[in-house]
Amino acid sequence: MYDNDISGVVAADRAHVWHHLIQHRAFDAKDPRIIVEGKGLSVWDQNGREFMDAVSGGVWTVNVGYGRESIADAVRDQLVKMNYFAGSAGSIPGALFAQKLIEKMPGMSRVYYTNSGSEANEKAFKMVRQIAHKRYGGKKNKILYRDRDYHGTTIGALSACGQEQRAAQYGPFVPGFVPVPHCLEYRAQWDVENYGQRAADAIEEVILREGPDTVGALCLEPVTAGGGVIVPPKDYWERVQEICAKYDILLHIDEVVCGVGRTGTWFGYQQFGVKPDMVTMAKGVASGYAAIACLVTTEGVFDQFRDDAADPLNHFRDISTFGGCTAGPAAALENMKIIEDEHLLDNTTAMGARLMAGLEAIKDKHAVVGDVRGMGLFCGAELVADRATKEPLDEKIVAAVVADCDRQGVILGMTNRSIPGFNNTLCLSPALISTADDIDRMLATIDEALTNVCGQS
Ligand code: PMP
Repeated sequence: MYDNDISGVVAADRAHVWHHLIQHRAFDAKDPRIIVEGKGLSVWDQNGREFMDAVSGGVWTVNVGYGRESIADAVRDQLVKMNYFAGSAGSIPGALFAQKLIEKMPGMSRVYYTNSGSEANEKAFKMVRQIAHKRYGGKKNKILYRDRDYHGTTIGALSACGQEQRAAQYGPFVPGFVPVPHCLEYRAQWDVENYGQRAADAIEEVILREGPDTVGALCLEPVTAGGGVIVPPKDYWERVQEICAKYDILLHIDEVVCGVGRTGTWFGYQQFGVKPDMVTMAKGVASGYAAIACLVTTEGVFDQFRDDAADPLNHFRDISTFGGCTAGPAAALENMKIIEDEHLLDNTTAMGARLMAGLEAIKDKHAVVGDVRGMGLFCGAELVADRATKEPLDEKIVAAVVADCDRQGVILGMTNRSIPGFNNTLCLSPALISTADDIDRMLATIDEALTNVCGQS
């Protein structure tokens, strides 16, 4: 397919590619890794070395695994028929995927296509702001976000960023974004029995402080991903729902990581019985076979943009150029069919339980593991220097654990470059096709890496 030999590719990369997330000094001593092939859970680098990918493409994306010919076929067929048309026109896969998606999201109604998770969140923020103008004289425009949550890389989304290191040096930010406390009982801020309810009450306190008539929306990850794999309990969500209803605040759930099967249900919020007004999703929607993201709303939210047709400012005056690409919904349709045909939600629940049980056993064995958390194939292990004080393990040591797993041939993630002092959580999010053998290999690798780096405890 490509006429360059691989050393030419590495040289071209070194000379011209600006890699995401990394300080390029790291490439003074070693070549960048180029991933050249993938199949199932395996990827191969430029040296032909095979790795097991326990993080679905680095950032919890490739939910159905690599090398899916049926997705490639669906995308190819669609592209040669009609690749793109934007503006107010629709497309066949766009209509069919929207229908299929809404079938999986009772209570939701409309799908707005866009390119990335950040952009989907920006669209939601714009809707909140526009509703504030249309209904509340511009006043009810504040957007609450949670400490440790992340909603994207654009300046608007970074204005709603609960992870200090992601936002540092990129201000000034957009006004009207207000933080609320996180809900991580392991690092409790309140000494109470019903921690979830107390953390939700803290949201109400912020609303009352700001003035309920100024708050338009609350934006939350169902399970906080990059902020440390945090799973708030069900009673937290029940209170959150009550609070949003009480103050007429839109509940925006960011499913960019949890969406499309990652936790064992189609969407993370469905684990907790939440009824959102807006849901954003990206990564797993087409498992990275095409770039696609969606903002899904209720009919109630949609309705607010189609009343009073005489007003030229009435509708949602927004577009994404590549929201008109048909490759995305074509890939997303086939991706969803694979999840159904191969019963991957059930597999995720079963393999997720195996992964959590294995992580608990690792915690029993290694004192450096302070807490393990997760839901479905979305798990984390928080490493600490001291179990009693819960002092986070030095990030360099956590990175050494990840590097040791890599040396053993398993690619793992960690919460790095997000929260100073708390980049101490190992992250696992393997493809939903993972088998018991795959999970056991991941666990054995982590066990050995902890022994190698931190010593037997
Ligand atoms: N929301 C969450 C919860 C995310 O984890 C991310 C990406 N890591 C985003 C939004 C932003 O998505 P994207 O990178 O596609 O813009």
